[in-house]
Order: sequence, then structure tokens, then C-alpha cells
Amino acid sequence: MNALSPLPAMGAAGCEARPIVQERGQREVFCGLTGIVWLHRKIQGAFFLVVGSRTCAHLIQSAAGVMIFAEPRFATAILEDRDLAGVADIDDELDAAVDRLLVRRPDIELLFLVGSCPSEVIKIDLSRAAARQSKKHAPRVRVLSYSGSGIETTFTQGEDACLAALVPTLPQEAPHAPPSLLVVGALADVVEDQFARLFDALGVAPVRFLPMRRAADLPPVGPNTSILLAQPYLADTAHALEERGARRIDAPFPLGVEGATLWLRAAAVAFGVTEERFDAVVAPARARAERAMRHYRDTLAGKRIFLFPDSQLEPALARFLSREMGMEIVEIGTPYLHRRHMASELELLPPGAPIVEGQHVEQQLDRCRAARPDLVLCGLGLANPLEAEGFTTKWSIELLFSPIQGFDQAGDLAELFARPLNRRARLEV
Ligand code: SF4
Repeated sequence: MNALSPLPAMGAAGCEARPIVQERGQREVFCGLTGIVWLHRKIQGAFFLVVGSRTCAHLIQSAAGVMIFAEPRFATAILEDRDLAGVADIDDELDAAVDRLLVRRPDIELLFLVGSCPSEVIKIDLSRAAARQSKKHAPRVRVLSYSGSGIETTFTQGEDACLAALVPTLPQEAPHAPPSLLVVGALADVVEDQFARLFDALGVAPVRFLPMRRAADLPPVGPNTSILLAQPYLADTAHALEERGARRIDAPFPLGVEGATLWLRAAAVAFGVTEERFDAVVAPARARAERAMRHYRDTLAGKRIFLFPDSQLEPALARFLSREMGMEIVEIGTPYLHRRHMASELELLPPGAPIVEGQHVEQQLDRCRAARPDLVLCGLGLANPLEAEGFTTKWSIELLFSPIQGFDQAGDLAELFARPLNRRARLEV
């Protein structure tokens, strides 16, 4: 039996080999509050209280609007004019709002106070408020805080800020604890279950997930914990976990057959799984995924795609679309590029695919118009105007709300990109 060996090209200096253009200017990206839309469904027993304006409340309501079921696990404490003008004692008002909420919702075990642009502008100290409230409501409720403001965060960075706020509360792993794996980044429950079954079949154990499904089930962390990032936008969380002694496993992200294989393989290598066992476990899932994707390759192969910066998933998506779907990449925009976390992805991107970090939306739109791509991946704010100009677009937010990671979702991921092209083709006919 041969132990799996790391892939030769993985984890080297992907960024050094390719130029990355930095662009600064007006941005068209959601703020970090948006992460609440998927996080509030993920951690049972948690509640997100945004301290913000009516604009913030509208953003979350409309982003989550179609998904609200029963009582949502988020709300907005709206800052009124007298709060913004400094007439009211903001600490007292916030404490009273938290007290009312906790009386009305006894199911809350973990409360996040989420900062916004207005709360930052008038300098509300949410970390002090959280400490005060934690003391008052312990042990029934833990209160933490993080910022989701558009000044500090873009779109997916809200999840990073939320998970990073959780890290100091994670228990220390027991002395001499056996090696464990912590998968970091929100995944749909169905995806998490699939990965859990694959890790189990590989003999990789114990495996835990962050965010956890129940607020009370905090995974322990320490020097025997290996972390495997499931999402590419978790710079602060990974840093906080590494500060606690955990070691990051370098891997591409589990998008598409190739991404899922390399991601699982990196964990398998770290846990000494044999080549034979890895192949036996992964082969059936790979075959299923190949079959599911084949159907969409005809639509996507040879088509040109322009990716606007939005979620930080863009380099991994571009890798999947070019290598597995045969698409041509016109430009890969990303709001932020973590050089170390993305090194394995960058190595797999086609040479010459331009990567632009940050955004100057006008210049980027000019480049997109000049290139006339077949498909544009972008945020909601750009999609309608581009459709009106005759472009075919895909909303990048859908890639956060849909289960797309892993083998059994590879076909669905391909379909998300094929659908707008098919729709356009039908309209033209
Ligand atoms: Fe707008 Fe800022 Fe509120 Fe986000 S946090 S909705 S960017 S005001």
C-alpha cells in the first residue's frame, strides 16, 4: 500500500509566476451584511442583530426575501435620527433592544451584534456592548460582535468576520488529542454531509466543521488540528485559527471534479491515506460528477467569460470553467486575492488569463464592452444594465446561495453557467 504523496506542482509560488493587476476606484460589490443571509440558516441557535439603518434592513430583507421561512434568525436594530445626532444614549438603547429580543426569542444561544456603516460612522463600540451583554446573559446566551459594514467588508468578508469572531470562543483541544480535521467555511448541509461521508470512508477522523450546525457545538482547536478551507475568502479566520496553533492544509477549493479531488486528496495526504483507498473511495463519485457535467460541456466549451469581482470565488470558478468546461477566460476580477490561500488555484489557471484585484468599475466595464464576452459573471447591480446592452449575465450571488461544492454538485455548478446561455439562445431563436 502506498501512502498518497502531495502533488508535485501544488502550493508553489503561483502568484509570482503571473502578473496580478491592482485596480482602485469605484466598486460595485455588496457589503458584508449579505453573509447573514446564508449564515443565519447555518448555525441553529444563533441570531444576527444588525445595528444599522433602514438601508441595511432593506438590503438583508431583499437579499433574504425569498428565503425567509418561519421566524428568521436575523433582525436590524434601526438607528434613528436621534441616535445618529447623539441625542440618545446609544449604549442604553442597544442594551434595551437586546433585552427585548432575548425575552421574545428564548431559543437564542448565540447572538451576533453586527456593525454597519452607520454604526461605524457614529463609532458605536459593539465589542464592548457584546462583552457587557455576554456578562449579563451568561451562561444562557453568548454575545459576540463583528463588522459587516460596506466601509470595511465586501460581500463574503462578512462570513470571514463572523467566523473570526467565533475563533477565540472555541475550546482548546485536549492535551495529546489525536490529529483532527476542521473544515472551515459555510457549506450547505447537504454538501457537508457528503464530505463527512467521504472523509469517513477515507478513514480521516475526527472531522469537524466551522461554522458548526448548532451554536453550542463549538469545535475544539489546537496544534493537532489541521484546517482545510472550504471557501477562499477566510483570511482573518484562518489567521486566527493559525494563531491558536492549527495548521492549514494547502489545496485548491472543492469546485468541480478536479477541485473536489485535489481538496480531498490534500486532506488524505495529511492523514496518511493510501493511494489505493483514496482511489477506491473517490472514483465512483468522480464518475457520477463527470457524467453530470458532460451534458453542459457542449454549451460552455469555447465560450468566452468575463468575471467581475464579487465573492472572491472568481479564480476558483475560472479554473473550473476553463479546465473542466473548456471556456475561455477573458478576465478574472476578484475584490481581494489572498496570495497564500490562492496559490494552488493560480497554478491551475490558464497562462495569460488576466487577474485583476480590486475594482475600478468604469474601466472594467469598458474592457468588458470591448471584449464582447459570451457570458458575464457579475453582481446584481451590473447584471441588468449589461443585459440591456445585449450581454448574457450570471448573478454571482447565486453561487453563494446554491450548493456548488463537491462531486455531487459539479453538474449543478456547470448548469448555473449554461442556463443563461441556453436562455439567450432560446430567446434569439
Ligand atoms: Fe449599505 Fe453600509 Fe448598511 Fe451595507 S452596511 S447596507 S453598505 S449602509
